Amino acid sequence: MSIRKPFTALTATAAAAAVAAGVFTAAGVADSADPAPTATVVVAENVSAATQFAADRSRFAVSARSPYSNIKALQYLLNAYGIAVYSTGRYDAATKNAVVRFQTAKGLARDGSAGPITMKTMLNTANMAARYHWSNKNTTKAVQQLLVKVGYRLAVDGSFGPATRSAVLTFQKGKGLPQTGIVDFATWSWMFNPPAAAGGGSTGGNWKSCGDSIRGGIPMSQTGLAKNGFRMAKCMVPIVNSMVSAAARDGVTLRPTSSWRSRSYQVSLRRKNCGTSNYAIYQMPPSRCSPNTAIPGTSIHEYGLAIDVANSYRGGKVYNWMVRNGGKYGFHRTVPSESWHFDTKQRPISG
Ligand SMILES: [Zn+2]
Repeated sequence: MSIRKPFTALTATAAAAAVAAGVFTAAGVADSADPAPTATVVVAENVSAATQFAADRSRFAVSARSPYSNIKALQYLLNAYGIAVYSTGRYDAATKNAVVRFQTAKGLARDGSAGPITMKTMLNTANMAARYHWSNKNTTKAVQQLLVKVGYRLAVDGSFGPATRSAVLTFQKGKGLPQTGIVDFATWSWMFNPPAAAGGGSTGGNWKSCGDSIRGGIPMSQTGLAKNGFRMAKCMVPIVNSMVSAAARDGVTLRPTSSWRSRSYQVSLRRKNCGTSNYAIYQMPPSRCSPNTAIPGTSIHEYGLAIDVANSYRGGKVYNWMVRNGGKYGFHRTVPSESWHFDTKQRPISG
């Protein structure tokens, strides 16, 4: 990893183009710090890949069911290791044979499946080091193919130039990864972007019917405490618990800076943000407060249906997780100026 040129700062236009291209809407997985497999590990992967993947999302496979670009990137990587195979984007017999050749070279089980161990062996820095100078056009093509998949406008030409460097930096920023410009295992795994593990889809309840049953501020006695300190309307507690757990499995910690608020607390916020007169507290439009603060009785926080999530800054790891996954639990962004506010009641906005 030593023969890499220093990166120039990302230009604002490149970042804007990436955002416009919808780059940040793809999900990814956080890499875990588990040690790379050694060349002596022999494990049959084809039967266990799904199980391993469910247990640890940083372990992912490329198979015939994978997106075209993921298979194509795998084929470029095989070429990077000196194993000639056409980059067809299809997991055909030639690809399977090429994977077997790679597995043979690395002492892995020779099953032709690009399972989690094979992929990690292929992508981990130590094994890549000998061939992983950016002068290797096939490695660069794999990176470019995966970036194109998630919306970057790049030529898949194998030349790791400024546009590719910019795209890598923007991609890392969007995923909350360190902006090194180095395509390490964490970055690869986010770029391969495996789908969520099947079977983990329970949301803990019906957020819609919960929200429909609440039409105004509720007293504390009608709330309950969910994981990590979220205080919610009682029927939202199991739903928030499911969401917090799902985020944790993806390596994301959801904590509240605010959740349920009592009416008296909302009154105190209005005093602070809007003014101390009766008009300022109970009637003044929220937009005239600084920051925007709902009239007591109308805040969705008082309903127990809103959360302000700590560290939910645009483009960050927490924010990206919430934007991609929060909707399953009813939590959408509804306040354009607040990247941390999510609720189940108001009209969702985009991005
Ligand atoms: Zn809020």
